[in-house]
Amino acid sequence: MLTREAVFRQIDADRVIPIQELVGVQYDNRLRMPMRFCRRGREYEIVELISSFREDLPSPSMLYLVRVREGDVFALYLDLTEPVDLGGQTVWRGQWVLHFQVEEEEDILVDIRLKQIADFHGHLCPDLALGYRVSQYALERLALALMGGALLRVIVENATSAVDAIQHMTGCTLGNQRLMVRDWGKHVYTFIYGEKEGLRLALRPGVLPENPDMTALEQRIQAGQATLLETARYQTLLDQRVTFVLDTPAEVLFVARYVPVRWPWEQNGSALLRCEECGEPVLETHLVLRNGRRLCLDCLSGMLPACMTPWGD
Ligand SMILES: [Zn+2]
Ligand SMILES: [Zn+2]
Repeated sequence: MLTREAVFRQIDADRVIPIQELVGVQYDNRLRMPMRFCRRGREYEIVELISSFREDLPSPSMLYLVRVREGDVFALYLDLTEPVDLGGQTVWRGQWVLHFQVEEEEDILVDIRLKQIADFHGHLCPDLALGYRVSQYALERLALALMGGALLRVIVENATSAVDAIQHMTGCTLGNQRLMVRDWGKHVYTFIYGEKEGLRLALRPGVLPENPDMTALEQRIQAGQATLLETARYQTLLDQRVTFVLDTPAEVLFVARYVPVRWPWEQNGSALLRCEECGEPVLETHLVLRNGRRLCLDCLSGMLPACMTPWGD
């Protein structure tokens, strides 16, 4: 079945079957989406609204990308071209056009491991590809130490899709406390093996240049202003970036440095004590002593001046 990303990928590559037929549609006013349509006497039940677009402002015409029960994806266009003035109130007269069907795609992922990671994460994106490459590179370079029984731990300096790839590849997870995320928004990854040594891999400056087209499209998508073709184009640019990350040698992508480093955390104990402010049970290791009272970090942050809380306001 086509993923959402694959739908846009196919549309941008013009892998669609044109239809252009008038169809009858049952529309749900509350959900604001078509529920079923009828084509040549056959009824199709819509099970997912993938996306909707307002294609030609100021007309309120809408394009709906929908998945039907059988799994196929169609573009349904509500063509509202004729404003009719009904005593001062504008009413749009319209018709439903079944625009096209999106072709099925053959699986573009040949790398089984990467496919598993993309399934776990939900899609394949540039940050996931970076996380995959950086862990692959680290595991290769640290193979000897790891075969000798060294315990691997990772510090990741961003909270992007890369984190999912790292967890899948290295087995270091947030849950088993062998992964620490310090979200400084940097593609820097430190793979700690043994007691005080780490391999620090940082994205090389300039290796992933800004693409102004991509940035502009991203802004239009985030503002809800992108058309279907713009959204599809954006998917292709993302795919190109993924391909670049997968095809570029790791030594070109990352600057490697061995650094002295210590794993900064004690293991979490399992003892729970009560916060003296909210009364909720908290891991003992996470309580902070303030003015003689033991507080959870949540309560503590509520007592700090706003500028000192992580979220700033
Ligand atoms: Zn992602
Ligand atoms: Zn508390």
